[in-house]
Amino acid sequence: MAIVVLRELRKELSKDFGPGDPLSFIEAVHAAPADPDVSGDADDRTFCGKPTLDMERVNYQPAGPGAPWLPPNMQEWECRDCTDALRSQ
Ligand SMILES: [Zn+2]
Repeated sequence: MAIVVLRELRKELSKDFGPGDPLSFIEAVHAAPADPDVSGDADDRTFCGKPTLDMERVNYQPAGPGAPWLPPNMQEWECRDCTDALRSQ
């Protein structure tokens, strides 16, 4: 199954930080099903039910079945609801 990895950003804080490490703006990392109509695009909602509209796409694809669905350097922000949803796919 194709998934799209997305990061949810902390909008209210992002303007105070200025340029810098984009990782510090991350609120959570979610997964969404790939849009069946638009290749490489995410569906309207993440697996945990959040709108994907304001989220930023992460250029990452799981290496294979059993591999973590999000990049190793982003595991700190893993959305547990998305993980649970992916596990029950
Ligand atoms: Zn999620």
